[in-house]
Amino acid sequence: MRGTQQARPVDFGAERVSPAEKTRRVAAVFDAVAERYGLMNDLMSLGCHRLFKRAAVEMARLRPGKRVLDLAGGTGDVAALAARQVGGTGHVVLADVNAAMLEAGRERLLNRGHANVRFAQANAEALPFDEGTFDTVLVAFGVRNFADQPASLKEMARVLVPGGAVVVLEFSTVANPLLAPGYAAFKASWPWLGRLVAGSAAPYRYLVESIDRHPRQEAFRDMMLAADFGDVTYHNLAAGAAAIHRGFKR
Ligand code: SAM
Repeated sequence: MRGTQQARPVDFGAERVSPAEKTRRVAAVFDAVAERYGLMNDLMSLGCHRLFKRAAVEMARLRPGKRVLDLAGGTGDVAALAARQVGGTGHVVLADVNAAMLEAGRERLLNRGHANVRFAQANAEALPFDEGTFDTVLVAFGVRNFADQPASLKEMARVLVPGGAVVVLEFSTVANPLLAPGYAAFKASWPWLGRLVAGSAAPYRYLVESIDRHPRQEAFRDMMLAADFGDVTYHNLAAGAAAIHRGFKR
């Protein structure tokens, strides 16, 4: 009786909710932040998110002609970097579940003349693409928000060609005991900053809580291995405040 089974609760920040409720609440978070998304990213990361995204795209080793999925692509920072590298013979699909974020991304990228970027409203757990559609999947600061991370990784593997790369940039864990308290204090200022700049603290409270609950570097690597990615490695950025994981479809 599949239909009557209760889905296992998942983290939504510090709360435990059903996967469907997490998807609904995450959508509300990004509806609330879409307009000030870029500005808040710059303030909270002191501009570092741009360097992190560049590093992630470098790790993908894109070439002209490649087909790239920028999953949970939001306002399109990563899609724009990738689009330049794959050129006119390749293309990038910017996919996001949230219509407001996708619309902000579409407007930005079309205004900048990126003719090789396409747009798709899509849920990471049920991607509307055939097997082997992409050479590379990039996800920047998206995975933490997915209700079912193992299922979304399996979907990424499905839509990749064999040997295709997945590159995941995400907040991670600062393990150094000398640095961790300072970083925790810095993060604690984000809800305050959110209220000041974007008019609401709650989405940024969720951000901090979701970072604190995201699997550590090694645990996420194991999740990728379980999703049928091989040769999985990770690189810490800013002492582990963020990490880039890369693997290849077996
Ligand atoms: N990748 C962009 C960047 O780095 O600037 C946006 C990152 S933003 C923190 C997270 C994005 O994930 C949001 O645009 C949100 O709508 C999207 N997202 C959350 N859950 C998703 C899901 N299940 N499937 C696809 N996108 C999702």
